[in-house]
Amino acid sequence: MKKYFLTYLLVSTFLLFQSCLDDDISGVYQKTESIYQKGFSLEAFEDPIIREYLAVDWSSPVEFTDVDGTMLYEFDAQVGNGTPLEGQSLTLAQKYSVVVSKAVDGSPLEYKLVRFLSNDNGSLASVSYRDKADFTGTVICYNLKGRTEMLEGYQQGVLKAVSKDPVEGGSSLAGKAPKDCLPDDPYCDGGFFVYEPVRIYKDWYNNRGNKWEYSNSTYVKTVFTQVWVPSNIGGAPRPAQNYHEHIDAPAPHAPGGTGHASNHPKEIILDKSVTPCVKEIIRKLQEKDLHNATVPDISQLTGTSHLSQTILDLFKKSKNYHLTFKIGEAGTNKNAYTEIESNRNGEFYFIVTLDEEFVENGTQLVIARTLIHESMHAFLGYVSQEHFLSDSAKLLSEYNSTYGNRNTADHVFMTEYVEAIGYSLASWDYHSRDKEYYNNLAWSGEMLNTEAYRKLADSTKTKIKNVNIAEGNANTKATSNALGIKCKSL
Ligand SMILES: [Zn+2]
Repeated sequence: MKKYFLTYLLVSTFLLFQSCLDDDISGVYQKTESIYQKGFSLEAFEDPIIREYLAVDWSSPVEFTDVDGTMLYEFDAQVGNGTPLEGQSLTLAQKYSVVVSKAVDGSPLEYKLVRFLSNDNGSLASVSYRDKADFTGTVICYNLKGRTEMLEGYQQGVLKAVSKDPVEGGSSLAGKAPKDCLPDDPYCDGGFFVYEPVRIYKDWYNNRGNKWEYSNSTYVKTVFTQVWVPSNIGGAPRPAQNYHEHIDAPAPHAPGGTGHASNHPKEIILDKSVTPCVKEIIRKLQEKDLHNATVPDISQLTGTSHLSQTILDLFKKSKNYHLTFKIGEAGTNKNAYTEIESNRNGEFYFIVTLDEEFVENGTQLVIARTLIHESMHAFLGYVSQEHFLSDSAKLLSEYNSTYGNRNTADHVFMTEYVEAIGYSLASWDYHSRDKEYYNNLAWSGEMLNTEAYRKLADSTKTKIKNVNIAEGNANTKATSNALGIKCKSL
């Protein structure tokens, strides 16, 4: 229920600050808080779910040229947690982007909101307005009032049907559907568009004893979404004609805030500042390790758990513990830091900020390492709160009294989990390097100020320092000795 986040920041009861070392300040991070964002508003957008929940990542536009030579920018966007359109027989995963055409002077001319719908998650992952190769599903272009201006049906990247400026809001189903194919398309009968009614419900919550409990849902309205369905494929799943979505009540926008909440609780929150490259790193950290699943043992097909996957999974499932990732200013010499905030509802918000220069300088491998490290801080905070009688919590509290602060306690604790951090990193990297390399990289930040580090052999310490320099940090760019690759080189 992160929607209450901004409100209750005011009453947060404690704040913990944890940080991790690194060097100097170099490189200017390009801020693209642009005129494009200013000219965009969904106030008049018809579909309340999109109006309330669409969040656009304005930080990383991709510039491209359309077939007719128009210069365009494309921005990734997401509705809530990217929740699918839930139907009875078929769930349609969805994805959004905002496409802006620009004038010669660079000012925005026209916006369209593009929605991709597919029952194939893999097909959806890589699709964008500029590149629909391999995409199977529906592409819907809306104007900012929510009127459908163009519909396209794709099958494995091939445009099968297009319908321009269809009449919006039909009230019956297939009967009223526009059937419109490309003039000389041999597959003209390959598919057609149908109106799918999507019922929107508002979910109400009661505040009972400082906790928000679900109470009931009330019907808001039905909107019609057009979906392309192939007609001549035997057994191809048809849309369910029974879709629904939910809006949270009270309003998802905290007073004075611009935050967007998801309609279904989402526990790992990616701030708009998180770049697609870092998003992908975080996504991959949530995957189980499939490295050893080469033998046909059914129990291994789902993969092996590892540190970051387990931690991220915990936050994804937890109702009261929320994890946010963002990119920003982490302070001099810091790669990242993690803050913990709590509210009077007993909810905890862990906010991991990756330093913007670190993200620029470091390789994806070292970014993954730092994400694991910071997730571990969040996890230790969780353990101390939720399982305060556990051995780990007791040990942490012991370290806390010994070293006088929680930050050092966490890092001492982490030195006992170097191999677990290393293994998690190896899993993220599909075990492409020696185990030793990952384990050396697992030593980072203030873990290097501990007794455990001091006790290591000098040769090991040298290797640890070298890999941390090679892969890059907040101060210095990755060197040619790095084994990881940088985000920007993709
Ligand atoms: Zn740390």
